[in-house]
Amino acid sequence: MRNNKYNASKRECLQGHVHDSKREAFRCNELHRMLENGEITDLKIQPRFLLIEPWRYLWRYERAVEYVADFSYRKDGILTVEDVKSEATKKDDLYIVKRKLFEERYCRDDKVIFFENAR
Ligand SMILES: [Zn+2]
Repeated sequence: MRNNKYNASKRECLQGHVHDSKREAFRCNELHRMLENGEITDLKIQPRFLLIEPWRYLWRYERAVEYVADFSYRKDGILTVEDVKSEATKKDDLYIVKRKLFEERYCRDDKVIFFENAR
């Protein structure tokens, strides 16, 4: 990737992760402050969720499909799974399909909610 080094410094959060965007790095700092203040617990960066199990179809081995969110954390007993999106990235077809599969699989009760953090 071009300018990777330059962009990396702008996308680095105070915890030293390199995020996909400045907004995501900013949000990471915000969530870590909330964690320190006790507003949230169990903060995870880039948590992975299984969407489709691996399986064998005819002669093919179909690998698992996973969704990697930006953050997850617990607030008032509810697990929030968050993805920071821009106007452009929230229209990405792959993201939309993965979001729908995630919601269908994990959000059927009120114990897990999906938060698309978009402007
Ligand atoms: Zn971070």
